[in-house]
Order: sequence, then C-alpha cells, then structure tokens
Amino acid sequence: MVGMDILEEMSRLKENIRKVEELVNKNKDDDQTVNLVVVTKYVTSDVVRQLYNLGLRHFGENRSDELLKKQAELEDINKDIEWHFIGRLQTRPVRKIINNINYLHSLDRMSLVKEVNKRAAGPIRTFLQINISGEENKAGFPPSKILETVESLKNYPNIQVIGLMTMAPYEASEKELIKYFNEMKTLQEKIQKMHLPYAPCTELSMGMSDDYIQAIQEGATYIRVGRAIFEK
Ligand SMILES: *Cc1c(COP(=O)(O)O)cnc(C)c1O
Repeated sequence: MVGMDILEEMSRLKENIRKVEELVNKNKDDDQTVNLVVVTKYVTSDVVRQLYNLGLRHFGENRSDELLKKQAELEDINKDIEWHFIGRLQTRPVRKIINNINYLHSLDRMSLVKEVNKRAAGPIRTFLQINISGEENKAGFPPSKILETVESLKNYPNIQVIGLMTMAPYEASEKELIKYFNEMKTLQEKIQKMHLPYAPCTELSMGMSDDYIQAIQEGATYIRVGRAIFEK
C-alpha cells in the first residue's frame, strides 16, 4: 500500500468485493445465507479499517500474533468486528486469543479441543475442521471419525460446534471440488440430525478465492476469501 493512492486502492477493493458479492448472490439458493469472511492476513489494520468503514464486519486471520496486533491497532472499533480465526492454531497461543475471537474455524485435533475448553471463559463458536480429501499432510479430523469425535465433545462444555470447515486440495478439478463439498454437506447434516445441544452444526465454512462458487453451490454458509479481493 505504501506510496499508493489510498482512494484508488479502496475503489479497487470495493469493486472486487462487489464482484464477489454478485457471484455469491448468483450461486446461492434463495433460503441460503452466505457470510463473507474477508481474509485480512494480506493487509494492514489500516486497510481493515477502510473495509470496516465500507460496512464489512467479518474478518479472518490465520496467525495469533497478527490477530492481536490488528486488534490493538483497531481498539476503537474492535468490539464491532467479528473476528474469525481460520488457520492452524498451536496450543500455546490459545490462552492469548481464545477469548478475543468470535469464531474458531480450525478446530482440527483433540489436543486443541482440550486447550480451547480449558482456556475459554465460556462457550466458543467453533467449526470442526475436516480433512475431506484425506491428504496426508493436511490438518483436520478424518471424515470416518467425525461422528465419534462429535460425541466425545460432550465432555468439553466450552466447545460449541456450530458447523464444519474444510479446505479443498489446491489442485482439485471442478468435479472433485463438487464431490468434496457435497461430502461435507452430507456430514454436516448427519451431525445436525444428532440433535446434540452442544453441536447444532447448521453451518459450513468452505470456499476460498478459487473455489467459493462451487462451495456455495454445495451449501457453504461461510466463505473465506482473501486473494480475490486483495490481489491486483
Ligand atoms: C488464506 C486463507 C484463506 C483465503 O484464501 P484465498 O485464496 O486468499 O482466498 C481461507 N482459509 C484459510 C484457512 C486461509 O489460511
């Protein structure tokens, strides 16, 4: 942003957001609510402030240090912002951030469940991250284990499962994307039908810059978009 005309930059971002919102509306069902989480990991808190001034409220960060830095710099408006933690979260920084976020999208392992439950001051809205494609180095619970995982969460009162989250493989074809996102929808509905008080599981966090259209078509209710908004 340095040296760039901020007004020009903002009109570009505004136009990019308008395009994303147009595609969201074109691809969603009439009764489907799709929340756009603007992934701000690429930009400074000044840009987040400008986006806030445009009326946006849902922002996503994937690093705890960066989240805390932005929150401090946006102290005057921070209480109006909905912060989504979307990235791999180590157990050590949980204590510092867990009571400063509104949603945790990346609850991906039991050790994190335990730490979040221990450090949270009350129930935290979480998405269980699913490794839907079974890639070896990818975070997330395996789909085959998810029902028993959800059942075991009854022992952790500060974990509220509002939905499931996934990241599709980088190189997935259109057909594969549809298949993975559709499998996510099936899992979400299975859990929803368990009617567990701590796991309403009505939401699906899926879809990034390159695949949010397919994700929405398969039922996404939260999309996490960065590059499509910020890339030149
Ligand atoms: C960076 C990131 C995104 C956004 O990805 P883009 O390709 O920039 O849209 C979404 N989800 C997670 C977990 C991320 O780390």
